[in-house]
Amino acid sequence: MARIVMKFGGTSMAGSERICNVAARVKRAVEAGDEVAVVVSAMAGETDRLVGYCHEAAPRAVGADFRAEYDVVVAAGEQVTAGLLAMTLQAMGVRARSWLGWQLPIRTSGAHSLARIEGIETEAVLAAMAGGEVAVVPGFQGLTAGGRVTTLGRGGSDTSAVAMAAALSAERCDIYTDVDGVYTTDPRIVPRARKLSRITYEEMLELASVGAKVLQTRSVELAMKEKVRLQVLSSFSDAPGTMVVDEDEDGEMERELIAGVAYDKSEAKVTLVGVPDRPGVVGAVFGPLADSGVNVDMIVQNIAKGEGHTDVTFTVPRAQLPLSLDVLEKAKAEIGFTALLSDAAVAKVSVVGVGMRSHAGVAATMFRALAARGINIQAITTSEIKVSVLIAEEYVELAVRVLHTAYGLDAPITEDEVSA
Ligand code: ADP
Ligand code: ASP
Ligand code: MG
Repeated sequence: MARIVMKFGGTSMAGSERICNVAARVKRAVEAGDEVAVVVSAMAGETDRLVGYCHEAAPRAVGADFRAEYDVVVAAGEQVTAGLLAMTLQAMGVRARSWLGWQLPIRTSGAHSLARIEGIETEAVLAAMAGGEVAVVPGFQGLTAGGRVTTLGRGGSDTSAVAMAAALSAERCDIYTDVDGVYTTDPRIVPRARKLSRITYEEMLELASVGAKVLQTRSVELAMKEKVRLQVLSSFSDAPGTMVVDEDEDGEMERELIAGVAYDKSEAKVTLVGVPDRPGVVGAVFGPLADSGVNVDMIVQNIAKGEGHTDVTFTVPRAQLPLSLDVLEKAKAEIGFTALLSDAAVAKVSVVGVGMRSHAGVAATMFRALAARGINIQAITTSEIKVSVLIAEEYVELAVRVLHTAYGLDAPITEDEVSA
């Protein structure tokens, strides 16, 4: 008998039939003697629909008052699925009840639409679980100290589940989704992607932060910090999933140089042309952006071309491109650029692996493989276990496939495929 948290994503909760399938899985765990808390997402597409209503009601609004009400609206999707799952379980003869974020409560920071979980009161849930009742909790939502509803950022139900597992000292946090584990890249883009039986926290964190949305970045960060055992599995099959493990737990695992390839289409490129090449200029560019809450990611400063002028290229979240251009235009006199260019049709492609620490040549393989297909690299960033490049968006799928092959990650061709 174990205490476990089971989290079900949007596709897994999309409609009565799928909720019945989820309930059947929960029932099996209960019958096996586990104490179960379930964290649910809104039905697939529902959060997008609710976000759409917010932007229709208040076009262009971005202020704190708007974001507080945005959270009230978008948190609704998870309220519906939590109630539906609890009543489906009851109908199957399993004792269950739901608790909304504010009822527990799940306490968060006041950063509306991107709140951080600060603590969860678990007394009621623990008592229910000890009495054999399944606790169903909506993901993605929480409550500020001032009593207002918050949400945790898109994909945030993963983080709710990990936080719940930490607060309940659960043995495991099982993330049930629409793929049966973490793959070497998005299996929807590369059919030859391979499922990893294990991946280190560090690699998973880096992959998530460069776009592999199978787990929200913060959920991995939290699991690593709180030592939550995290597993990714399918809601639709009983195939073994992927376990996220510590590097030292990972001893006998055959070490691949690269764990995976990820892509991210959510950034846009900005270029400032003819910036004076003198101390303080970079601060004049990035200071006002930071003050406006714009998160700059990749940065490239070209070598000065004669006359002491240079071009500075960087990326910002696509959703913040209009704001960024506005901020830079206003700072034009201070920065002193001659032209401001932007391009939203870009994508970042990254390769990640702890093996990089001890191997040279990973970046060179990447650049050569892309060059061989005529894919131009517009910017580069690296960390100890990651190399990212910025390319034209139209080449993103090709680049992911080419790199997957270049690092030897493709699944071998099976005998069936050979004879077919
Ligand atoms: P959920 O609604 O269950 O939270 P998400 O859509 O957030 O599901 O995450 C699952 C999706 O993540 C998959 O359908 C897959 O397309 C995508 N994905 C991206 N990179 C990977 C990867 N490396 N391994 C597995 N899935 C990935
Ligand atoms: N429903 C939220 C979203 O779509 C949270 C989640 O599913 O994790 O972003
Ligand atoms: Mg998700």
